[in-house]
Amino acid sequence: MDRVFANRVFAALPTTVFEVMSQLARETGAVNLGQGFPDDRGPEDVRAKAAEAVVSGWNQYPPMLGLPELRTAVAAHYAHHQGLDLVPEEVMITSGATEAIAGALFALIEPGDEVVLFEPMYDAYLPLVRRAGGVPRFVALEPPHWRLTEEALAKAFSPKTKVVLFNNPLNPSAVVFPKEDLELLARFCVKYDAVAVCDEVWEHVIFDGRRHRPLMAEEGMRERTVKIGSAGKIFSLTGWKVGFVCAAPDLLKVLAKAHQFLTFTTPPNLQVAVAYGLTKPDSYFAGMRADFAASRDRFASGLAELGFAVLPSHGTYFLNIDITPLGESDDVAFCKRLVSEHGVAAIPVSAFYAEGSLRHVVRFCFAKTNETLDRALERLAGLTR
Ligand code: GLN
Repeated sequence: MDRVFANRVFAALPTTVFEVMSQLARETGAVNLGQGFPDDRGPEDVRAKAAEAVVSGWNQYPPMLGLPELRTAVAAHYAHHQGLDLVPEEVMITSGATEAIAGALFALIEPGDEVVLFEPMYDAYLPLVRRAGGVPRFVALEPPHWRLTEEALAKAFSPKTKVVLFNNPLNPSAVVFPKEDLELLARFCVKYDAVAVCDEVWEHVIFDGRRHRPLMAEEGMRERTVKIGSAGKIFSLTGWKVGFVCAAPDLLKVLAKAHQFLTFTTPPNLQVAVAYGLTKPDSYFAGMRADFAASRDRFASGLAELGFAVLPSHGTYFLNIDITPLGESDDVAFCKRLVSEHGVAAIPVSAFYAEGSLRHVVRFCFAKTNETLDRALERLAGLTR
């Protein structure tokens, strides 16, 4: 059979590194610090709300754009936490942030349009951009600070730029971009008349008193930003796949056209529970951040004591190490050895680069119990001794 029954964008791809590493961890009994998900079961009251909604609630199709109570709760949540002036009509509920990103790209891009992407980038971005017919233009960010520069942006933007796909806080770098970087990016979006699709799923998972600043709040961005959030990350319930898209009415109308033919709706019981969760008091969010920051500190100091070169982590569930001082120059080979010989699964950061060009950084998920982190540290001790 000569005919190839596969789209070339997907056919050329390996299985996502997160699945590969979790599978390897299951097979070998390794401590899984690869794929980013917490050990914690998530807030019991939010889970109880979902259970109650399954048993006693309405489980038929909810409205396509989301339950009115959740759209209202999202707008109110962002007004309270980020000072945004969204109305519920500017919010659409999706089946996770990945669906929101796919829908936004499919809805906005015409074949040949250029899309600015920042490396390291989440592994779903590039295939989705390509499948939408977009032409990627990369901005490579450099460790340890991963900052945006005028020079790099000037090289990537052009009159053909239609969309900028921006992740802040950035997975896997664990940086929270400072205000100057957001202003700089906003200036480029306005100058080139581009829409910013902002993956802000880590907006609540930031540490050391930092505040999340949505790109949408920058000058000239209110009408040209698609802000994407995720209940999975806000409530440590990564399997729920409830996302939110916020955009000005004209833009949201365009995005809804793609959403209606991707998933159409999202389970109503989970939407009810998320609407409840978003109204939780500030102390819940502060407690969640403090717990993750304590895990980060425990793991980072454990690694540093063992002699690993730990890069700073300002947010997300992740921290990175530079493997150069270990005499290593291939993150993929290092991670394979780590899981098979030392029993710890991690993620090679080259997986977040189109050409795998950065090969000396390895990501660990620290959103785990102290026992899990300590077990991983014991096993990692073998590497530096
Ligand atoms: N967001 C998770 C991470 O970065 C992975 C999610 C997935 O496996 N698709 O680890």
